[in-house]
Amino acid sequence: FEKEMLHLDKLNLVGEMAASIGHEIRNPMTTVRGFLQILRGREKSNKNIEYYDLMIEELDRANSIITPFLSLARNKPVDKARQNLNTVVKTLQPLLQADANKEGKYMDLELYDIPDLLLDEKEIRQLLLNFVRNGLEAMSPGSKLIIKTYVEHDGVILAVQDQGSGIAPETMDKLGTPFFTTKDNGTGLGLAVCYSIINRHNARIEVETGPSGTTFMVKFKVPTD
Ligand code: ADP
Ligand code: MG
Repeated sequence: FEKEMLHLDKLNLVGEMAASIGHEIRNPMTTVRGFLQILRGREKSNKNIEYYDLMIEELDRANSIITPFLSLARNKPVDKARQNLNTVVKTLQPLLQADANKEGKYMDLELYDIPDLLLDEKEIRQLLLNFVRNGLEAMSPGSKLIIKTYVEHDGVILAVQDQGSGIAPETMDKLGTPFFTTKDNGTGLGLAVCYSIINRHNARIEVETGPSGTTFMVKFKVPTD
């Protein structure tokens, strides 16, 4: 538990710093992107067009790294509303499905009837996206990822189950630490953001892993009133 608190403190600090400079960095990036697009439109050389596309792509990648931080600042107002988790999952399905299919992988939903929860929809989308991204990245083409929702005891479970290569014991201890990654192009922010979102929803996380895959389970409390 102490280790968890340390992660969250570090994450809050990083979040606040990034949120305060995020906007300032984004504005010039937007300007640069705009002019790159104009130059690209005037360009005759295919080779140069390729370079412009690469530059724009990289700017978008940088932008997508900043975005999650903006939502991590401790003083960010929570925007929870009574909502059904299944609806959020279904809204995201086309996007996730397209992501999976692009890589020759499959995705299935197993959604049971569940009571409404108090959710920040934008954050829950981010949570799902991060879990699914990780699952897909761990899997070979032809394998399947399943998103499940169901009732267990007094709570609702959201589970993301992949058929990836599993997580090594020494990696398990570091999950959720900001900037921890085992990937060449990883940011090590996906799970840190997930853990922070889970914490802000007073939910709990459990991870099961083995050679045939990994399951991330988030347990939400059902509102009593
Ligand atoms: P990133 O994906 O950028 O590496 P994350 O915070 O999303 O950062 O994940 C941190 C690390 O946790 C990954 O580098 C990987 O080693 C491990 N991990 C997370 N999810 C999975 C998964 N579903 N299967 C295997 N390893 C995982
Ligand atoms: Mg990730």
